[in-house]
Amino acid sequence: MSPTPASAKIALTETVLFGGLSAELIQQHVRGIQRDLLTHSRYLHEVDFRAIHPRDLEFLFGCYDERFFGGHCRGALEARRLNFRLSPRMTRTGGKTTCFASPNGDLSYEISIASSILFDGFGKMDRRVNVCGLECDTRLEALQRIFEHEMVHLMELLCWENSDCAARRFQGIAARFFLHRAHTHDLVTRRERAANSGIRVGARVTFTFEGREFTGRVNRITKRATVLVEDPEGKQYSDGLRYKAYYVPITLLKSVAADAASG
Ligand SMILES: [Zn+2]
Repeated sequence: MSPTPASAKIALTETVLFGGLSAELIQQHVRGIQRDLLTHSRYLHEVDFRAIHPRDLEFLFGCYDERFFGGHCRGALEARRLNFRLSPRMTRTGGKTTCFASPNGDLSYEISIASSILFDGFGKMDRRVNVCGLECDTRLEALQRIFEHEMVHLMELLCWENSDCAARRFQGIAARFFLHRAHTHDLVTRRERAANSGIRVGARVTFTFEGREFTGRVNRITKRATVLVEDPEGKQYSDGLRYKAYYVPITLLKSVAADAASG
């Protein structure tokens, strides 16, 4: 007999509140999932993968749900949709889980993972990173830690309709199932990468645009940097001068001060 939806939700609630796995079994499952993903994915072929598809996230969900939660997460979702998204625009958080309500009250869920942060990190020169309090040596390990964190958000939303990773309930679940020791990450963000190269808000920078070299000041850093360059035809700013704004990938900027310092 298949469980009714209400009992699926109760089963998930009981599992996440009272269940947990030994550290050994957790590590075994995590490595097994890693192997399964590398074997089955059309996009991920190595631990420092170069490409990823939302289907890989869907695959991860199935693996984690089966191995850690006995499929109760899928059961508690019932017929509600769960979407997976890769977000190149999230530049500070590693992931995000959202519950959407349609006008007629139907709920759906979405897990997004910050592909920008994953792909920015794990270059040869990068420092080691820490996600959820665990050291990650590879891009795939970081992806798994972020995904585990978002799984806990999803399960809390399914069971209690709210979720807070700064709260004890969340941290208990994340620790008992995934050995997480923190709810934060210190992945290398573009902001940090930019700051390390001397590119920070207020820094004087040079860059080449359509064959011409410009010098200006960094006004804002997101996915790219906004550089204000003095220009009589530009917009007037609060300092009374006129500037044109250029949106420049951070890697194409050279810090004027850093240059001078390094000779
Ligand atoms: Zn969180």
